[in-house]
Amino acid sequence: MKKLALVCHRSAKLSFVFEAAQAASIELVLIYDKTEHAPGQLPAVSSTWQLPVFDEPEAALEAFEAGVEERGVGGVMTVREEAIIWTSQAAKRIGTPGIEPEVAALARNKYLMRRAFAEAGLRTPSFRYIDNPRNLSQVHALGLPLVIKPLSGWCSTGVMLARSAEELPGLIEAVWEVQSKDLARFYDKDEAAGLVVEQYLPGKEFVVECFVDIEGVHVLAVGDKGQPEGPWFEETIYRQRRDIENPLIVALCEAAREGVKALGITMGAAHVELRLDAGEQPYVIEIGARIGGSGVSHFVVEQSTGVSFAKLCMHAALGVPTQSLPEVLPTNKVAANYIIPLRANGRFSGFSGLDKVEQHPETARVVTFFEAGHVSPPPPAFGGYPGFIFSVHASDETAHAYHQWLDETLSIIWNQ
Ligand code: ADP
Ligand code: CA
Repeated sequence: MKKLALVCHRSAKLSFVFEAAQAASIELVLIYDKTEHAPGQLPAVSSTWQLPVFDEPEAALEAFEAGVEERGVGGVMTVREEAIIWTSQAAKRIGTPGIEPEVAALARNKYLMRRAFAEAGLRTPSFRYIDNPRNLSQVHALGLPLVIKPLSGWCSTGVMLARSAEELPGLIEAVWEVQSKDLARFYDKDEAAGLVVEQYLPGKEFVVECFVDIEGVHVLAVGDKGQPEGPWFEETIYRQRRDIENPLIVALCEAAREGVKALGITMGAAHVELRLDAGEQPYVIEIGARIGGSGVSHFVVEQSTGVSFAKLCMHAALGVPTQSLPEVLPTNKVAANYIIPLRANGRFSGFSGLDKVEQHPETARVVTFFEAGHVSPPPPAFGGYPGFIFSVHASDETAHAYHQWLDETLSIIWNQ
């Protein structure tokens, strides 16, 4: 079998996709950006390839096309949000399966994505695009509260809640600043940047993990993401739902599948985020044309259903036929991810209770990102993600109880 080029994986510590490739006997050529370091030893990676994916995408495409034969590459895939457009173009260049670059561009632009959902008749909050942070005449008609977000962000970077008309102009300036400083490098150089402002949906948040093949859109997992209430929207939990017959879960799956179709995603993974309004109706927030969470979504699907999500996606990118799947995959277990809460800020010195967590029979894996000495700034700046606790449970109830136990057991030791 030909090798798969995996484009710009974010963190070697989240190694789920590499392990899945190894288990499926797929060899990887790991592409990394010119500004990043060569990744260390990772499962299934037989070689690495440095290309200027983010700063000189056209030159990177040419070098990729010229080098694939020599390297034995027969497909290309990414789980990195910022690399989705480049990866679709790369697949097109070498004639291997991928989503259309126009579809990738749609999925990377929150304004165009909202428009596509609205045009397809999906439920969507009222929204406006603003290209001048000092001209808010368009926005007043939306009412309050409002969510302000960069046009092409990821990981909730810069996404903020405005509760009052007084704070709105200042917050729009702040999000504009985050976009220009931290995100601009990853934007399409030919397009104007801007913000999307939309109505706030106050209900619970969910994610629906989908895989698309010739038969259509299949739901592989549904996850509960808590109820983030702003002013920032950092991630907290991901707890899978086993009750796929529940009318709410059925409605979420239906909305997610319609959203994927509305964007024109015709193959591979789709990570669909949804939220409920005050009347419990589901709305698609956004869709990532990739496996979610740098492979976290693969962990959830595989642990709960036995199906290797990453293998499905890698085979699809290589043009290898994939197994037949039902509309909604039944689950045997409940997989979960708990993001260790910061609760304070300052100089990180360690975790308290981590040894107990590691010994708990329902703990599957512990991944920590902070090293001693790391400094987390005070709010409203985002302090970072200290670490993830992955677990597997027999039921929704035991998963919930385990997260409560983590709340009581695990904490961060700060040196002020
Ligand atoms: P990103 O691509 O940066 O993740 P999102 O559009 O997914 O941007 O927004 C990040 C988070 O902000 C969401 O996960 C959700 O918690 C919150 N959010 C975004 N839009 C809304 C909305 N209209 N109503 C309520 N919360 C929202
Ligand atoms: Ca998101």
